[in-house]
Amino acid sequence: IKWTEGRGWHEAQLQPYAPLTLDPATMALHYGQSIFEGLKAYRQPDGSVRTFRPDANARRFQQSARRLAMPELPVDTFVEAIDVLVRQDKAWVPGTGEESLYLRPFMFATEVGLGVNSPAREYLFMVLASPAGAYFHGGIKPVSVWLSEEYVRAAPGGTGEAKCAGNYAGAMAATLQAVQQGCDQVVWLDAVERRWIEEMGGMNLYFVRGEGPEAEVVTPELTGTLLPGITRDSLLTIAADLGYRTGEVRISKEEWQAGCADGTITETFACGTAAVITPVGHAKSGSAEWTVADGSMGPVTARLRKALVDVQTGQTADVHGWMHELG
Ligand code: PMP
Repeated sequence: IKWTEGRGWHEAQLQPYAPLTLDPATMALHYGQSIFEGLKAYRQPDGSVRTFRPDANARRFQQSARRLAMPELPVDTFVEAIDVLVRQDKAWVPGTGEESLYLRPFMFATEVGLGVNSPAREYLFMVLASPAGAYFHGGIKPVSVWLSEEYVRAAPGGTGEAKCAGNYAGAMAATLQAVQQGCDQVVWLDAVERRWIEEMGGMNLYFVRGEGPEAEVVTPELTGTLLPGITRDSLLTIAADLGYRTGEVRISKEEWQAGCADGTITETFACGTAAVITPVGHAKSGSAEWTVADGSMGPVTARLRKALVDVQTGQTADVHGWMHELG
């Protein structure tokens, strides 16, 4: 679907996957007005296909658009575009279980010009689809993380809350450092004090304090510099449904390390569309290193993961109306 100043949204088209032809002066390539979303369609036990909370992705897409001075696509149009694409060939959606059809809606500035002073006046919104296997093969493997001290992902007033391409470009060097440190992923700290835990590379974080039914499930509060994840939001609800106390908190790297040492923090996990939930087993910060409990997936993490996957794959009732039937 195209957007042109003065004309608005027009020319909705369904077309086979093919390369795009772009002018070298396409504004998105130079000035980075480029935003995206990620969500999944799951095969249900009755054979139908449903997407998980596409309206929430649509609203976040609007927020990202606003922050980058791009046009806002109506929520209904966003959801319908995905429905049309998935309906085109439902056979794309693999079998039952955690296999899915990954959907990638995105929008970028297509206006041609080298002037940087004002937002582009032409945009293209597209959705592409790609079948995705279960994220974990041969069992869930906890990740190890590196707390970045040299780089920050997002500063107050910046674009951290938006799902824009530039945030990921800025994260690459830190991810390379994490890998050089022998870790799988980077964990970002806040830009001001460099001690409050924000999120992981492409996932939000959760911490479990205590054990059993008394356990408390907490996640860093949305400060404006981290992405408001839809999985994060869903898990606050699911954890409360399961009877856990929940909270949106500030948690420092020192508290995380000390909590793992004295056993008050019993589990840590990351969450996002791709993996749903992945346990965090080990962390490194400068010369310090610590293991979360025994480094394997904890019982609260496993219970929350199953509860959410069961909703997505139609194994339990969708009491919150999260599963969208294709229109
Ligand atoms: N943080 C970042 C930086 C991400 O890229 C993602 C993935 N979209 C998330 C968090 C998790 O968001 P969601 O649960 O909506 O996939």
